[in-house]
Amino acid sequence: MNGHYSIAIDGPSGAGKSSLAQRCAKAFGILYVDTGAIYRTVGLAAYRRGIDRKDERAIMEMLPELQIGMRYDDSGEQRMYLNGADVSAEIRLPEISICASDVSSLPGVRAFLLEMQRQLARENSVIMDGRDIGTVVLPDADLKIFLTASAAARAERRLKQLAEKGVSADYEEVLRDIRYRDEQDSGRAAAPLKAAEDAVTMDTTQIDFDGSFALLCRIIEERLGVRPEKEGV
Ligand code: C5P
Repeated sequence: MNGHYSIAIDGPSGAGKSSLAQRCAKAFGILYVDTGAIYRTVGLAAYRRGIDRKDERAIMEMLPELQIGMRYDDSGEQRMYLNGADVSAEIRLPEISICASDVSSLPGVRAFLLEMQRQLARENSVIMDGRDIGTVVLPDADLKIFLTASAAARAERRLKQLAEKGVSADYEEVLRDIRYRDEQDSGRAAAPLKAAEDAVTMDTTQIDFDGSFALLCRIIEERLGVRPEKEGV
């Protein structure tokens, strides 16, 4: 492996892609790109303007007016900006998750965001997570992972994450959101969520976070011949 490489991680909502990818990026000293955050920023813009998120024409008219910025803060955290303002916290609200899923089913939106994602992978060694990274965005990625877990396990983890942030949520509601997004993300015509043919599938229903991290590190080392720069991050 030369110095430059890319790892694609796809999978359904709540499978733990971002936490895992973030930790791997730190360990291997590469850039973590959360592509869901980019779709969320577009979803937030549509929400704020009160645009029907399935009205492709209205959404496409809005896109050139948006300034979508992505920067990394001092701790390496990816932050999203909409027209110059930091929207990193707001895009995580549950209603914005649904907006993101809605706008991401529009082919025009996907085409608009494609080059931005590819450029990041050309300029950096990346671990990039999303729904179509291995199939569409980086079909030549050096390693493709399809990360999944049962809907119930994902809902429980999401609930725990929210509780840690002091947000109380209802299990059935969280599960319903996850199922809504699963159905929409997998059933859409444009770049549906599916494992690339050459992806390694990791089902983490029965594996905890540390176990998943150890497994992913082993796969990366075996497949790419690179070793973590930092142990125990
Ligand atoms: O990954 P996250 O849950 O933050 O993504 C928000 C939404 O953006 C997803 O429900 C999915 O519909 C969409 N998305 C996508 N393609 C990607 C990343 C996210 O369609 N590469």
